[in-house]
Amino acid sequence: MTGKELYYIAEAKFGNMLAGDGPFTKRCHEWLEQTSGCNKSLLTHSCTAALEMAALLLDIQPGDEIIMPSYTFVSTANAFVLRGGVPVFVDIREDTLNLDESLIEAAITPRTRAIVPVHYAGVACEMDTIMRIAKQHGLKVVEDAAQGVMAAYKGRPIGSIGDLAAYSFHETKNVISGEGGALLVNDPALALRAEVIREKGTDRSRFFRGEVDKYTWQEVGSSFLPGELIAAFLWAQLEESERITKDRLAIWHYYHAILEPLETEGLLRRPIVPDDCQHNAHMYYVLLPEERDRQKVLGELKSNGISSVFHYVPLHSSPAGRRYARMSGELPVTTSQSERLIRLPLWVGLTFEQQNRVAAVLADALEGWAA
Ligand SMILES: *Cc1c(COP(=O)(O)O)cnc(C)c1O
Repeated sequence: MTGKELYYIAEAKFGNMLAGDGPFTKRCHEWLEQTSGCNKSLLTHSCTAALEMAALLLDIQPGDEIIMPSYTFVSTANAFVLRGGVPVFVDIREDTLNLDESLIEAAITPRTRAIVPVHYAGVACEMDTIMRIAKQHGLKVVEDAAQGVMAAYKGRPIGSIGDLAAYSFHETKNVISGEGGALLVNDPALALRAEVIREKGTDRSRFFRGEVDKYTWQEVGSSFLPGELIAAFLWAQLEESERITKDRLAIWHYYHAILEPLETEGLLRRPIVPDDCQHNAHMYYVLLPEERDRQKVLGELKSNGISSVFHYVPLHSSPAGRRYARMSGELPVTTSQSERLIRLPLWVGLTFEQQNRVAAVLADALEGWAA
């Protein structure tokens, strides 16, 4: 919480406008459009919902293929599978754990419709290459920018580069509203339909703007918009998003400094952020050496009162992933990195003393194992 959340919720309540697309949603939309430079932004009730809207907007048909990493959250794939699409998993890069752009072209078939890069930990994918490949092959690009709010690639905000992008404001992300998300529409040709799909398939948004004198069912859609209480909470967070990002970056850089000796000793690998990427400190993770027993290290941290978790069981190894998706080649980097990764505590308010303690317990766990 940044301080003003409950105040704005009260303001929404006394303004007698609790359904979606009220004054707080408008403020959030303006902020998102100004900050990202996208053509149009639409708040949704989750990033999952925004990805589902993207699949509807791209008119994904049964059998259409969508290229994405296996190392991601289920929603990246699920949104397309709901329309009968087939996720095609491509391996990730060893350094950033992002989609390996050099493997994309080999995965393209006549059925391929879109590429979905996931900006892991708020570190951008190699977007120039991905956009060039998409253009050459007539494919759409949907950025899964769930973790990418306030991060950039070569100075361009994450979320402003693909045809469409999805943000998340889930409480585990940097800027939050409990559950929440946004669809960013960069291709102006998709903007009006995006509004219709989000408003139950109707042109209600145009009606509210006075552009039509009644609203009717236009096409397939659903209810993807959040109510004003959520938007009010989110507005308080967006107002403070620069401070949140600054504080998180300070914590991230402190971890990076104090863990350097452990990397030098070969006990772990720290995150790698390419020069082109201005990240948002969404996550601080470390990769353990291949032979380490991760469960034991996590147990050691836990028994010292430190909550630390691993990330993503790769989708290709999950029951639904095996049923609905296919792999483009073997995915050795996905398998190896996902088995070695642990995420350290990172939230606004974490103190340097607490971080020192995390580092000390981690060092004990790793050195103790070696002994
Ligand atoms: C969190 C996350 C999502 C889902 O976001 P919700 O807002 O919870 O729907 C999707 N993709 C990635 C990469 C995420 O990290």
